[in-house]
Amino acid sequence: MAKEFVKDVTSMDEDFAQWYTDIVTKADLIDYSSVRGSMIIRPYGYALWDNIKNELDRRIKETGHENVYMPLFIPESLLQKEKDHVEGFAPEVAWVTHGGSEELAERLVVRPTSEVLFCEHYKNIIHSYRDLPKLYNQWANVVRWEKTTRPFLRTLEFLWQEGHTAHATDEDAMEETIKMLNVYASICEEILAIPVVKGQKTEKEKFAGAKATFTIESLMHDGKALQSGTSHHFGSGFAEAFGIQYTDKDGKLQYVHQTSWGFTTRIIGALIMVHGDDRGLVIPPKAAPTQVMIVPIAQHKEGVLDFSYNLKQSLSSVARVDIDASDKKPGWKFNEYEMKGIPVRLEVGPKDIENKQVVLVRRDTLEKLVVPIAELEIKLAELLDEIQENLFNKALNHREGRTSKAVNFDEFKETLVNKPGFIKAMWCGETACEEKIKEETGATSRCIPFEQEQVSDKCVCCGKEAKKMVYWAKAY
Ligand SMILES: [Zn+2]
Repeated sequence: MAKEFVKDVTSMDEDFAQWYTDIVTKADLIDYSSVRGSMIIRPYGYALWDNIKNELDRRIKETGHENVYMPLFIPESLLQKEKDHVEGFAPEVAWVTHGGSEELAERLVVRPTSEVLFCEHYKNIIHSYRDLPKLYNQWANVVRWEKTTRPFLRTLEFLWQEGHTAHATDEDAMEETIKMLNVYASICEEILAIPVVKGQKTEKEKFAGAKATFTIESLMHDGKALQSGTSHHFGSGFAEAFGIQYTDKDGKLQYVHQTSWGFTTRIIGALIMVHGDDRGLVIPPKAAPTQVMIVPIAQHKEGVLDFSYNLKQSLSSVARVDIDASDKKPGWKFNEYEMKGIPVRLEVGPKDIENKQVVLVRRDTLEKLVVPIAELEIKLAELLDEIQENLFNKALNHREGRTSKAVNFDEFKETLVNKPGFIKAMWCGETACEEKIKEETGATSRCIPFEQEQVSDKCVCCGKEAKKMVYWAKAY
């Protein structure tokens, strides 16, 4: 029966892109909308985002930040205040030119990001060193007019949080930048079971207007990388463009030092592509809206449903438990919740009740376990932890197996074809080499990792003296 069902999902080894497209719709995460490149996030997809959002929001607040909300529209003149920033975003902004039938005196941009709005506000509310630091965060949607789009990975509109902070010193801003990068890494590794590489973006890949951009990069099942969260150190560049100054303790005027950092619905794409398999999604327990799905067997028999509902009640103290008591066949339910990636299925029928036991089925390994009712709460809690850990280790092993080293350009190109994944290779620091690598291989510099390694002495591209080891990969 399972075989019949998975027939209409493309095998991931056959066509990974099609597999992804099949999964996002068949697992009820999204539906397409009539606007090209836009998606409807369905209840199951949104529940997943809610979980991620709640975990991240808690950590953002724990590190001293406050949530605010900025307007959706940005006047054209405001966007243009910081030169690099506007150049970076201009090609993909959506413009509002009319209000009703009246042409606007000044065009408005639908926010692609909110740096300039925060800067304008900070200029008004920051006056003294006593006003610092300002640690604001916003949960919002943003719009970027992308040419090619894919659900979650690249859409015209997406959901995210963007933190924007202002500090008295450059060191404080730098400390904040790294702190929030680490918060993102903790969400990925602890909640989503996605191992990440932390590092700095090159000049070419950094955020428009930033002094430095830091990133966490993860590796998908097909060997492509995905930028999973970024944190930017602005220095005083935006402050100078917007005139955000404060009076220090000696009464002297100083510019503030700023940061911004963002984490988006894109991460759901990563979750799918890191853990999913040919049966559908595989969601790590800590991220799963439903951790345990109870499927009653022969539920028309007396006592089975009552017993199942009682189980749901008693297990709700250890897990997020749901029950499917619909009249659909158990086989249909098994497939449905495998497709949705629910970590544990709990089967209980008349025989089990008689024997005071239930059957647990792990989504990650499909292994079946018979567990006495008396031990169920303890065993279930243990099992969820075990699945969480297993998924992380599996992803880490996959990444390590797909991380190679290359010391010259031929080896680089060969590796990219034969073993798609991260390539660690030395770089001279010149943008020209990055561009050449991208042009000839399609791989981009993902980051200059914090954990450096001397792979060789020479740049993998030009052979000149190397400055840094860089992670390279084709990327989403
Ligand atoms: Zn070079």
